Amino acid sequence: MTSNAHLPFGDQRSAPFYGSDILSVKQFDQQSLDYTFGVAHEMREMVSRVGSFDLLKGKILANLFYEPSTRTSSSFLAAMERLGGSVIAINEVHYSSVSKGESLPDTIRSLECYADVVVLRHPEVGASAMAAEYATKPLINAGDGVGEHPTQALLDLFTIREELGGVDGLTVTMVGDLKYGRTVHSLARLLTNYDVSINYVSPDILRMPTEVTEEVAAKGVSQSEHDALDSVLGDTDVLYVTRVQKERFDDLDAYESVRGAYTVTPETMDKAKERMIVMHPLPRVGEIDPAVDTDARAAYFRQMEYGLYVRMALLAMVLGKA
Ligand code: ASP
Repeated sequence: MTSNAHLPFGDQRSAPFYGSDILSVKQFDQQSLDYTFGVAHEMREMVSRVGSFDLLKGKILANLFYEPSTRTSSSFLAAMERLGGSVIAINEVHYSSVSKGESLPDTIRSLECYADVVVLRHPEVGASAMAAEYATKPLINAGDGVGEHPTQALLDLFTIREELGGVDGLTVTMVGDLKYGRTVHSLARLLTNYDVSINYVSPDILRMPTEVTEEVAAKGVSQSEHDALDSVLGDTDVLYVTRVQKERFDDLDAYESVRGAYTVTPETMDKAKERMIVMHPLPRVGEIDPAVDTDARAAYFRQMEYGLYVRMALLAMVLGKA
C-alpha cells in the first residue's frame, strides 16, 4: 500500500457522478465518457505501478447479485479492494434474507446502512432503477435482466479506445443474441456518442429490439441488419460476439434452433481485417473457437482486465474521489 499523498486523485466532489446512481448508459455524454476513461486510464497506470492504493480506504461496497456472475462481481470486488476499500459480497441471495421473502427495497435499505455504495444485479428489467428510488447511497446497475449492463458497455468502449486508439470512424459488428443480450443494448446506445457504423448480425428471432434501433437512429448513427457475418466481416473494425442467452428463452426448442448459429474460427479471422479486434463480454459457450485465442486480434481476455480499471474509476467517481 502507498500513501495517497502523491496520487493523481483526490476529493473531486464536483466531478461527474459524485453521489449519483449509474443505472443506464443514457446518463453518459461525450464529456462524462472522456472523464470516466481518463480516470480509468489513471487507474490502469496506478495498478501497474503500485497494485493497490488507499483511495477508498474505509469505504464499503455492498455487492448484491441475484443472478450468476463471474467477471462483474469479482471485478467490482477486486476494484474496491485495490482501492483500499472493503466489500460485503452477497452472491448467493439464497443464503440471505431474500430466501425468507424479503423484498428488494428492504434488502437495499438494509445493506445501505452498512455500505457506502451498492452494486446490484437482478433478473428484472428496471430493478436497479426501482431499487435506486429506495437507496440514499449511490447504486450501480450490474445488469438488469435483458435491460442494460452499463458498466460492461463502458468497459467495452474503454477496450476499443485502448486497443484501437479511438472510436470515431469505426465499424462495429455485433453478432449473436441481440434480442436478449443486455450488453449489446447498452453498447449500441453508448456508441451513439461517436461517429460509428453499426452492423447487427443475428438469426431473425434474435434481432436487436426496435426500442434500441430507434434510439440509435434518432442519434443519426448508421445501422444495418444482416443474417450472415460474411457480408460485413471484411469491413469490421470491432467484432463483438455474444452468447445466445439460454436462460431467457421460454421455449427451449427455439433456443436449440439458434444455438451455434455463428462461430468465430481461425478461418473467420483469415477473412477479417489485419487491424481489428474481436470482443466478447463472456462467458462464451462455443461462439468463439479457442483456437482464435492466440490471435493478437482476440481482445476478449484483455477486455476483462480493462473492466477492472473502469469499475475502479466508477467507484471512485460516485464516492467523490476521482
Ligand atoms: N456476462 C454478460 C452479462 O452478464 C454476458 C452474458 O452473460 O452473456 O450480460
